[in-house]
Amino acid sequence: MATPIDRSTTWPYVDGEPGAFTYSRYSSPTLVEAERRLGELDGGEALVFASGMAAATSVVLALLAPGQTVALAEGCYYGTGVMLDELGRWGIRTVEFDQTGPPPEGVDLVWLEAPSNPFLTMPDFEASAAHPARVVCDSTAATPLHVRPLEHGCDIALHSATKYLSGHDDALIGAVVCKHAADVSRLLEFRMRTGPVPAADTAWLLLRGLETLEVRVARQTAGARLLAARLADHPEVQIVRYPGFGGLLSFDVAEADAARRVETSTRRIANKTSLGGVTSRIEARFRWDGARVPPGLLRLSVGIEDPDELWHDLESALAQA
Ligand code: PLP
Repeated sequence: MATPIDRSTTWPYVDGEPGAFTYSRYSSPTLVEAERRLGELDGGEALVFASGMAAATSVVLALLAPGQTVALAEGCYYGTGVMLDELGRWGIRTVEFDQTGPPPEGVDLVWLEAPSNPFLTMPDFEASAAHPARVVCDSTAATPLHVRPLEHGCDIALHSATKYLSGHDDALIGAVVCKHAADVSRLLEFRMRTGPVPAADTAWLLLRGLETLEVRVARQTAGARLLAARLADHPEVQIVRYPGFGGLLSFDVAEADAARRVETSTRRIANKTSLGGVTSRIEARFRWDGARVPPGLLRLSVGIEDPDELWHDLESALAQA
């Protein structure tokens, strides 16, 4: 039976006392069902948020205090660094580190990304788990099918569920999955007080996306493996970054103008942002990441289309490079 969408914002008290649900800023039945499923997938206790960034911001504000420091994986999603810069006004400090090695000493929160977007590096989980600070891992690009951070010593897994978990570019939603009950309680309290909850309809779209997660990601992985191998042999391509699983990869052409020509020449592959949807998309990341990335870096999120068709599209676009 499909999960019902309960759009109520308020529910009657039971014998004059609040029942399981009272007011939808606190929680609601469709959200709780999405949280149950996400918790199963990652092996912990989940909470959903209004977006991936709402989840990430909540983790920092709820679990850290002014004057504390985050060690952020170099080359991770640029928006996480931008958010932490914003919170610098509230006393949060950030230092970057190479996540393929140990985090720096003396930090209060370690922030990993598995794999990092768009550099596709994997963290050294063991080195981070040995650090005394709480460890968060943004595993958006891996999904729990490929990486379950809590099994690798992390305390919190974080997802932009907008991406693979929902899968169809029509739901903006984020999630954390926690190992420790105290973190869930604190994050729930913070979410209730500050209000970054998703709508029931959005949680329902996530639930529907989860039904096909495994087949989508298997198909995306098969397509991405084939494209990564063919791109590596292409004379216009200088480097391909692909961790060997999942649907996300990046590659470099000679310079920014060449990247612009490639991204605007594909026909089957859309020139747009985001990742994890069933349709493929490509974009030059320079527009978002600036000097953090090589000017010719293109990020490709592989969908579920016929990989040979995608290759022909890429090949003819690369002829314009
Ligand atoms: N984490 C990663 C790895 C992302 O790629 C993104 C968005 O692109 C986010 C977090 C932010 O998620 P959202 O766009 O759902 O706020």
